[in-house]
Amino acid sequence: MDADLERIAEWLGRAERCVVFTGAGVSTESGIPDFRSAGGVWSRTKPILFDEYCRDSQAQIEYWRQRAETHLQFADAEPNSAHRAFARWEAEGRIRGVITQNIDGLHQIAGSRQVLELHGTARKVGCLDCGTLYDAQAMLARFQQTQAVPRCDRCGGLTKHATISFGQALPVDVLRQAMSWSREADLFLAIGSSLVVTPAADLPVLAKESGARLVIINREPTPLDSLADLVLRRAIGACLEGVDSLLPAAPGATVRSEAS
Ligand code: NAD
Ligand code: ZN
Repeated sequence: MDADLERIAEWLGRAERCVVFTGAGVSTESGIPDFRSAGGVWSRTKPILFDEYCRDSQAQIEYWRQRAETHLQFADAEPNSAHRAFARWEAEGRIRGVITQNIDGLHQIAGSRQVLELHGTARKVGCLDCGTLYDAQAMLARFQQTQAVPRCDRCGGLTKHATISFGQALPVDVLRQAMSWSREADLFLAIGSSLVVTPAADLPVLAKESGARLVIINREPTPLDSLADLVLRRAIGACLEGVDSLLPAAPGATVRSEAS
């Protein structure tokens, strides 16, 4: 018996407005490295600031070169048991949705529908002038063939992945919605995030201050651990499989006969 997993299952079973908040740690078991762990993205590449990207053609080339490399990491990645659990919990009416800092699109591939992508998506490339979106794979192929930064087909503008770079503002409507989900949550599960990147990391605080129970599942300590009702420093996939197996029948699910 695992008392911590049982508590989470009990809280989740009773919650009416549970929100799941995810970071890069949710995707490491799908083979996508996170940012800050050893061997993570930052031990190998230097991030290009938004401002630098907009004005410096060398930075643009370097950015696309880096994206071509990281695209290979997630293009064939598949959702893991954590992504699948969230999709199932949403379909069963147990959670309101997922707020994610991830840009890999694996929540949607797993079947989650209510996903707020705070940092955008690396599956698309957008025109910085007119906003037209393109499939990232097709644009990367274009970059690899020409070694030039792809321009927008519609207006000739500069394109960039539809992710939020450092120094670039978060999409206001997405952030606003994430704040209202957090404020209204009765249970907030922060999973696989170092909880140091703001404003994303302010959301668990907002939820807690608005009355939610806060659960943090992350291998390493986070600055919000002391605020949480429960902290689990363990591998995410196994934890969520455990919680899932302990959940009471989903609301609306056929009640199994208890007769012996
Ligand atoms: P982060 O790298 O700062 O933190 C990830 C945390 O997850 C770490 O503390 C690590 O200890 C923990 N972790 C990793 N694998 C785990 C596992 N299997 N079980 C338990 N814990 C595990 O990631 P973050 O907080 O999301 O940082 C923010 C930035 O990283 C975001 O802006 C995000 O856009 C970007 N990012 C996204 C991806 C992705 O989309 N998959 C990948 C790398 C970085
Ligand atoms: Zn354009």
